[in-house]
Amino acid sequence: MRSLIIGLIAVGSLATVSTAVLADCLDSGKSLGVARTIKIDSTGGPKFGTIQYPSTIKLKEREVILTFDDGPHPQYTPKILKALAAHCTRATFFPVGRMARAYPKTLQAVVKAGHTIGGHTYRHPNLARLSKRAAIRDIEKGFQAIRKYAGAEVAPFFRFPFLSDSKRLRQYAAERDLAIFSVDIVSNDSYTPNANRLVRRTIAQLKRKGGGIVLFHDIKRSTARGMMNFLNQLKANNFKIVHVVAKTKFSNPAPMYLTGSAADTGTSAKSSTKRKPKPKKAPAKSFGPRDVFDFPT
Ligand SMILES: [Zn+2]
Repeated sequence: MRSLIIGLIAVGSLATVSTAVLADCLDSGKSLGVARTIKIDSTGGPKFGTIQYPSTIKLKEREVILTFDDGPHPQYTPKILKALAAHCTRATFFPVGRMARAYPKTLQAVVKAGHTIGGHTYRHPNLARLSKRAAIRDIEKGFQAIRKYAGAEVAPFFRFPFLSDSKRLRQYAAERDLAIFSVDIVSNDSYTPNANRLVRRTIAQLKRKGGGIVLFHDIKRSTARGMMNFLNQLKANNFKIVHVVAKTKFSNPAPMYLTGSAADTGTSAKSSTKRKPKPKKAPAKSFGPRDVFDFPT
């Protein structure tokens, strides 16, 4: 009786939190769901991802963490959200600040579906090539824009654009208590336009490595087109989804990093004159390889 009551409480709270997600779920037995949730303590800037660092998030065999970078994208992000919702599962998104500014409603849909939101800078530069001060400004400006346009708190999770880190910026992440998310499995969706090929190759990698943090981009057509198939294949191959959430709160940076252009989240006239022309284009129809959406990593 006691377990029944606990079970009912659990179901009740889940229904309250994620009605929108549950409403679209596939039949039980066909959907991935969330096998377990891991709370990540970002204190001291831990680094996760075996392609760059010595360790990753401790997972069991066949456990997978899904991550999506560079969005939100007005066409592709919703398709990915729909596939995730059909599988009743959760992922972590690393949006770019200027994309959040361009497509706030899409980002808000990601938040509403219960996914974790981290940071991926404001304009996606190669941070290792910038001065420390300029790099930190772009990191912080990104977090501030994502918070503002998401209308929600972010997790203190950060992914370096192009996975391009540096000793001094890893040190900054440690001081700021930002967990650095690298990758265990690279889908290579930036260079794989064929959705079926993308799914086949990513599943093959997962089978070889036995699971891990997978990197996709929610600005890629092949990722959007292939996501439902990919999730179906994960289920068919007995992979489990782990959802990562923040144990520690995102804290504001020192005020010096929120002054001048770093504090701009796009509301002042001054800021609009400073913007580069590319993001202004942000067309809703054509997404060619040279436009603002093309961030390889
Ligand atoms: Zn990126």
